[in-house]
Amino acid sequence: MPQDVHVYDTMTRSVKAVQPLDGKTVRFYCCGPTVYGPAHIGNFRTFVSQDILRRTLELAGWETKHVRNVTDVDDKTIRQSQTQGKTLKEFTDYWLKLFRDDCAALNLLPPHVEPSAVEHIPQQVNLIETLMAKQHAYRTDDGSVYFRIDSFPEYGRLSRVKERELAPGTNSGGKANLSDEYERESLADFALWKARKPEDGANVWCAPWGEGRPGWHLECSCMSMQYLGESFDLHGGGVDLIFPHHENEIAQSEAATGKVFAKHWFHTTHLLVENRKMSKSDGNLFTLQDLKDKGFTPMEVRYVLLAGKYSQPLNFTIDSLNAARAALKKLAKAASSLAPKEITFEQLKQQTLTADNPFHAAWEALKNDLNVSEALGQTFVALKDTDKFSDKTAAWLGFQRIIQALGLILPDANDEVTADVPAEVREVAAKRWEAKKARDWKLADECRAKLSELGWAMQDAKDDYKLTKLN
Ligand code: AMP
Ligand code: ZN
Repeated sequence: MPQDVHVYDTMTRSVKAVQPLDGKTVRFYCCGPTVYGPAHIGNFRTFVSQDILRRTLELAGWETKHVRNVTDVDDKTIRQSQTQGKTLKEFTDYWLKLFRDDCAALNLLPPHVEPSAVEHIPQQVNLIETLMAKQHAYRTDDGSVYFRIDSFPEYGRLSRVKERELAPGTNSGGKANLSDEYERESLADFALWKARKPEDGANVWCAPWGEGRPGWHLECSCMSMQYLGESFDLHGGGVDLIFPHHENEIAQSEAATGKVFAKHWFHTTHLLVENRKMSKSDGNLFTLQDLKDKGFTPMEVRYVLLAGKYSQPLNFTIDSLNAARAALKKLAKAASSLAPKEITFEQLKQQTLTADNPFHAAWEALKNDLNVSEALGQTFVALKDTDKFSDKTAAWLGFQRIIQALGLILPDANDEVTADVPAEVREVAAKRWEAKKARDWKLADECRAKLSELGWAMQDAKDDYKLTKLN
């Protein structure tokens, strides 16, 4: 019998057990990336928390079906593909590959289905036709189609925005702050279909009411229901999506089907960088590559992203990456004193954890609203007493359950790279490595000299390097 995993549900404002409708498989949908540039570490905080939810559910004995879409048609993808003289597909394929590479480096389990909006245009057109037939949607003179918010009295249930707050000018229209110049019944109504504009170029599709492209909210209703059914178990995304995106998804889906859309709403609070919102112009927006260039590993980034509770704001600092390196090292050292034996995630799912296991409290913390900080705290407490464990094999399995629920890959315990390499040293080392790869020997030598000035030496291996402190 699977164990309950509790997480916060934004709809009811309470912590609830995730209960699959069919009693067996948790079917869940997560809003995916817009593929017009590299994802930043804020995006990855959300994807990592969804990954931990999935891993915890699976280790608790549930099966999962995880769907995450790819937003490949919107103003940004269209505009930027045109600027670069590429087709929409060439452009978005490039960024999608990069996104998938980052996900793999961060050890995110790939979703079972990863549908693209462009590949589901006919289904989106069908959904609009259903909504029009039921008077929930209407066409404007230019050939756009809008959702009639007045026709759906439950609108605002998730975000608790009152209808009166949906004042003229309210942006419920899309990801970007779009100003829709076309005539609609109420300014709060949002676009299901955007009529062709000259600047859309070839990126338009045919529909019975005219050429154009779907509005952003529609793809998620359409693809989640296609792959998970009209009612499914859980829907996730960052908190910025609660309104208008998820509110609009509920309106479109429930108005069309008359059924509850998603039973549980799982939102991840935003990542802050040095206590501020991330923004390119403030120079505090990091991608995974930026942090790799500073000499940090994807696992160190993952550790920082998961270490706080998903429902609390998390403040990212470069120092927290140094602390993550130390923590991973500590976990790896402690692990080597247990009874290490390779065990896969699939094999772990077959194991149960008894109440006397030293890692039982850590596992309970994970099932209780994914309390990762508590789980890590309990793990470190348990690891203090490894020589007292009577059954080292059981302890190893308990430890692995926590590590694999968190999706961590521990470094080699014997690795000489010290946990306290200063950020400046790592940056110079990373620069030298890049210079060496680019055969820029002059720059590489300068970096080596700088490193030794800072008291460090760098040893090169085939695909990697090590740093050691000079005596
Ligand atoms: P986007 O590619 O902008 O659609 O975003 C992909 C996912 O990242 C969505 O679930 C967003 O809510 C989420 N997201 C965006 N910014 C942040 C942030 N700073 N912290 C956490 N999640 C974020
Ligand atoms: Zn979505």
